[in-house]
Amino acid sequence: MQLTSPRLRASLLAAASLGLVAAALPPPTPLGIGDPLFPHLGNPGYDVLSYDLSLTYKDNRTPLDAVTRIDARALTALDRINLDFTHGTVASAEVNGQPAAFESVGEDLVLTPESPVAPHTPLRIAVRHTSDPRGAADGGWVPTADGLAMANQADAAHRVFPCNDHPADKAYFTFRITAPEGLTAVANGVAGALPVRTAAGPTTWTYRTLHPMATELAQVSIGESAVLHRTGPHGLPLRDVVPAADRARLEPWLKKTHGHIAWMEERVGRYPFENYGVLIAQAQTGFELETQTLSLFESGLFAGDGYPEWYVEAVMVHELAHQWFGDSVTPRTWSDLWLNEGHATWYEALYADHLGKYSLERRMREAYERSDQWRASGGPPAAPKPAAPGQKIGLFRPVVYDGSALVLYALRQEIGAAAFDRIQRRWVTEHRDGVAGTADFVRLASQEAGRDMEPFLKPWLYGKTTPPMPGHPEWGGAKSV
Ligand SMILES: [Zn+2]
Repeated sequence: MQLTSPRLRASLLAAASLGLVAAALPPPTPLGIGDPLFPHLGNPGYDVLSYDLSLTYKDNRTPLDAVTRIDARALTALDRINLDFTHGTVASAEVNGQPAAFESVGEDLVLTPESPVAPHTPLRIAVRHTSDPRGAADGGWVPTADGLAMANQADAAHRVFPCNDHPADKAYFTFRITAPEGLTAVANGVAGALPVRTAAGPTTWTYRTLHPMATELAQVSIGESAVLHRTGPHGLPLRDVVPAADRARLEPWLKKTHGHIAWMEERVGRYPFENYGVLIAQAQTGFELETQTLSLFESGLFAGDGYPEWYVEAVMVHELAHQWFGDSVTPRTWSDLWLNEGHATWYEALYADHLGKYSLERRMREAYERSDQWRASGGPPAAPKPAAPGQKIGLFRPVVYDGSALVLYALRQEIGAAAFDRIQRRWVTEHRDGVAGTADFVRLASQEAGRDMEPFLKPWLYGKTTPPMPGHPEWGGAKSV
């Protein structure tokens, strides 16, 4: 899946025609696919089919040695291939088996093959590079007490490996991770061949995804971990990765996942991937993250002090719900983030309601009271303001969480619970393993409602202020609070 803006198409065509008449190409420039919030993220002209990442870990102070192999398909003629990559040193690059020149420009790694790549032909890229785990403030590698984990959302996968770093281009992944004796490496998907231990001591672990995945959802955990296996609903393999020393203490939490999956499946249908589990990392991230099939949680959430049990469970359900909403169905642009966070917050809130701890109506009423302020500071749900420079995670504001769950609540109030439930199920079924955006959601809502829902949804999704809530005329008076 690939997006190209007319402006970029024009600049590509211009670059391509220059290549015909000039021996020397113009200087490489960073490109993007026209994401309104991240203009330089992703790259035009090709579609990645698979990534094969080999990573050799020593310790948290040493850049990992890495080889990234990319199997792609050229969509246009390519004199140059832009990848997103920063925070590592490139030693060599190949395109279709031949050495390619390479240069870093901004956060792009620009490859110049010996001869241009023809449109609609295979494009195989190999880059030997390092991947630096230090300086993690903007995401990517997350140092933990015993190793590393990964947190790439929204735009930090390219701080770890060269890639087409946009969720609109999903691909299959293979991971080959070599770590010193005593450490365990785990990644998204299923284990490949048995871990291979070399004579010198390090062990190589392999994993592969059975479904396509966005780069932002990649996960590699290296640490003194226990990997715990159990069985979920209808035989679904469950796999948790926890600090080995905390295994017994965490067991009561890990046992809950089975019930959480069954609860979600009752509402939206079958879990969409090959396995699921939680990765509990000894790190203070300040967030949890829905990395595909293996959600990342900071260990402090389960420390037993400060957070009530129902709250922790609702957060676990939030990340689980993302496996359908955000992972299996990824956003077309980052402005569609509300479709990830709004839905995950919706099921988080529903679960707290289900436990009898915090009613959905109360939570939505409280969100309604704050919604205008959230829109003023963060933009409307489907057109959020860009994050301030240096604050990339600043995109994750209340307006895309409760402010967007409120949009779903308004829709349910307007069309009724039965039609709303059909939308939810069809959304994750029809876009499974795919990419979808706001217009797709409005179209589906219109089909299930039996009328054009754009006049209703547009002010909810794009308005500077919050429309009246159907069925709750009394909520209007509290808005100035
Ligand atoms: Zn979320």
